[in-house]
Amino acid sequence: MDLHLKDRIVLVTGGSRGIGSAICEVFAREGAVVAFSYVHSKDKAEALSARLQDAYHTKVMCMATDVSNEAEILAMIAEIEQSLGVVDILVNNAAICPSGPITSYTKETWEQTFATNVTGTFIVSREIVRRLQEKQRGGAIVNIASQAAFRGSTTGHLPYDSSKGAMISFTVGLAREVSAQGIRVNAVAPGFVRTEMVAKTWEERKERYLQNIPIQRIAEPEEIADIVAFLASDRASYITGATIDASGGMMMR
Ligand code: NAP
Repeated sequence: MDLHLKDRIVLVTGGSRGIGSAICEVFAREGAVVAFSYVHSKDKAEALSARLQDAYHTKVMCMATDVSNEAEILAMIAEIEQSLGVVDILVNNAAICPSGPITSYTKETWEQTFATNVTGTFIVSREIVRRLQEKQRGGAIVNIASQAAFRGSTTGHLPYDSSKGAMISFTVGLAREVSAQGIRVNAVAPGFVRTEMVAKTWEERKERYLQNIPIQRIAEPEEIADIVAFLASDRASYITGATIDASGGMMMR
């Protein structure tokens, strides 16, 4: 199925590793122009950018941008606009996931988790929506949430679980506000995906987790990336405000 993504301009936050890197690859493969951010992994980001440009002959640009920092976000979007043009598709993927019981968390850890996962999503989305509205153009936003929004975590990630719940509400609220202007807003809520974020916990507790996963395995990042590309494409033109559960059947509703 052709997703008609050729030459669309896509911004992926946190594209240097894991799911974000697979999302960058699927868009590049579809011929989109890809900009992505990272915060620490400069070498990985630059290597990915070079590999995708080489493999798919499309423009790929990476920028060091901490999404918990508004000034850095504004600078990133100005740079993308100058180099590539107005972003048509935004994927809010960057996130952090601290671990521990409720009694172990400081206010700073709680606030940093929300600053990255929720406020970052808000600021980047606000700036992209502003530009699409100025140009009277449609677009698509896909937020990477998590099953943790609905089920919590068994290994203690309360700030993360709560931030992912906020992303679901943000998706619904923004979709209600901007869908009439041709801007669709959706979320994907993955279960376990093979990335650095969950690698250690998965290996330690795999047998227990598998009891709740009817598909009986962990997801690969590419399986989430394909859903994101579909949701962002005009093939999903009647879907907005939705959350797609990609949990191997852990969540059925
Ligand atoms: P990951 O492997 O830990 O990668 C996180 C990415 O986010 C990296 O590219 C990282 O950049 C970037 N990032 C972190 N903090 C940032 C900040 N302040 N500013 C900008 N970028 C930042 O995570 P993942 O597993 O791929 O997760 C991707 C998304 O899927 C997240 O939203 C996560 O909550 C969600 N998710 C994952 C799973 C799973 O099982 N893996 C399940 C459900 C949902 P650096 O490389 O520079 O650090």
